[in-house]
Amino acid sequence: MSNARHRIDFPSNEPVNSYAPGTPERARLKQALEELAGTKAEIPLIIDGKAVETGKTVDCVMPHDHAHVLGRAQLAGSQEVETAIEAARRAAPAWADMDWADRLAIFLKAADLLSGPWRDRVNAATMHGVSKNAYQSEIDAACELSDFLRFNAYFATEIYAQQPISSPQMWNRLDYRPLEGFVFAVSPFNFTAIGGNLPTAPAMMGNVVLWKPASSAIYPAWIVMQVLMEAGLPPGVINFLPGRGSDVGDPVMASEHLAGVHFTGSTAIFQRLWKQVADNIENYRTYPRIVGETGGKDFIVAHASADPKALQTGLVRGAFEYQGQKCSAASRAYIPASIWKDLQAPLVEEVGALKMGPPTDFRNFVNAVIDKSAFDSIKGYIDAAAAADDAEILVGGKCDDSTGYFIEPTIILTSNPRFLTMEEEIFGPVLTIYVYEDADYSEVLELCDTTSPYALTGAIFAREKAAVLEAMNALRNAAGNFYVNDKPTGAVVGQQPFGGARASGTNDKAGSALNMIRWVSPRTLKETFVSPTETSYPFMGEE
Ligand code: NAD
Repeated sequence: MSNARHRIDFPSNEPVNSYAPGTPERARLKQALEELAGTKAEIPLIIDGKAVETGKTVDCVMPHDHAHVLGRAQLAGSQEVETAIEAARRAAPAWADMDWADRLAIFLKAADLLSGPWRDRVNAATMHGVSKNAYQSEIDAACELSDFLRFNAYFATEIYAQQPISSPQMWNRLDYRPLEGFVFAVSPFNFTAIGGNLPTAPAMMGNVVLWKPASSAIYPAWIVMQVLMEAGLPPGVINFLPGRGSDVGDPVMASEHLAGVHFTGSTAIFQRLWKQVADNIENYRTYPRIVGETGGKDFIVAHASADPKALQTGLVRGAFEYQGQKCSAASRAYIPASIWKDLQAPLVEEVGALKMGPPTDFRNFVNAVIDKSAFDSIKGYIDAAAAADDAEILVGGKCDDSTGYFIEPTIILTSNPRFLTMEEEIFGPVLTIYVYEDADYSEVLELCDTTSPYALTGAIFAREKAAVLEAMNALRNAAGNFYVNDKPTGAVVGQQPFGGARASGTNDKAGSALNMIRWVSPRTLKETFVSPTETSYPFMGEE
């Protein structure tokens, strides 16, 4: 046990490599891509630090080449959930008692492993496994996850430092206990970094965790799990449980030891988990903390004073990077008629020229969508727009799943501001545009605020300050992350804490102290140095 008062300095964001032609990082990444493509990974469950096979498996394939099997993953069921809960509970006392500096050192080391010797492998696994281009993988798997680990370690120390005041002859303290029980971390397919953050944020605060990665992203999640083990994570602290949603989810949610849910994914699944908590509420030993970041219907509103070039770039990058499969992706836009008349042609031309194909060809901006069910669902929206009287497809719209799940970046123009694709989350490369009369700016802000149940991200493009201020005010509750003259995607840990409210989640801001504080159950300690020895108070004395 160390007697020093340890300090973690405020971190800097992990620098982003460019992967431009001729750079050494490009050569290294290409080599890692080749190596991973040429081997088939066997991916076990990890329970109590040990590899477990169940015999029930799923193939991990490349979304852009679905015949290419990258690995075979074991799948957990209720029996493995039970074993994992027991392992987590066994690990809990020693983990909670570990000096916080030693605990956090494991995650700081994981960050350095990820951004160092494991960087190419985690990026290549993300490129192959979820069809992300080199840059999108770099900002996610290598940089954002290292940032999450480093910044959260810093935020943990800030929380521990928050202590109450004390009157004379006593000392008041706060003991930041981990939650009593285990945390269930459930991650989505679209960010390797979120997969890593959901189990590690509670673990950093001393909690034990069951982590269920998304079935379509087990392959990169397995790399993250290996990094955590190499960094020295003790057995049982984070148990890795790939599996079908309800096969893992139902027994976990029924456990009396469930102390928290750290979820990112769709609104429907989060609401299901919340209802399960409500249904089981009398059985839990403690009220589970529920933290969930969910869907979005993210918007760009342009004012007549917007810079058209900046707007065009914001639309293209915001809507189509990672095939629109970011919870923050721009998927509806409100453009004034005066801007639209000169914007339509160059926008359509630029989107039509975006190159699409596998991420291993670095010229491709757009890769495949994640799987068959996403492909079918996105195609359904495009087909609905093609068949509608009040919408037309301006560019894109072709879908081909013969080799990989490819959907062209698609722009729909609608005359109906409440058209289906203006309201519902599509989670694919589809942007719907509604053109309004310049004079109707205030009405359009109101429309934007009330069109969808979500409130995750949004952006205003305007050069007139009054228009910016009006939007910031009218849309105050329409987005948890609001951007002025920038695309609504690309939040950076430590810079733009991320999350939204309404149907988009509990807004506990991943990658900030606000999130980390959800994973502790403080105990107040009052130690009286000079204890009273008389029951009566002075006011009780005789006149
Ligand atoms: P999803 O809801 O289909 O799956 C998320 C996770 O829930 C997966 O691990 C899945 O296996 C699991 N799951 C499914 N059924 C379950 C059950 N019954 N019990 C327990 N777990 C269950 O989401 P997805 O397709 O992986 O990701 C896309 C969604 O995630 C989009 O809606 C997107 O907006 C959202 N998302 C939100 C944020 C954010 O920060 N707000 C970030 C990324 C993604």
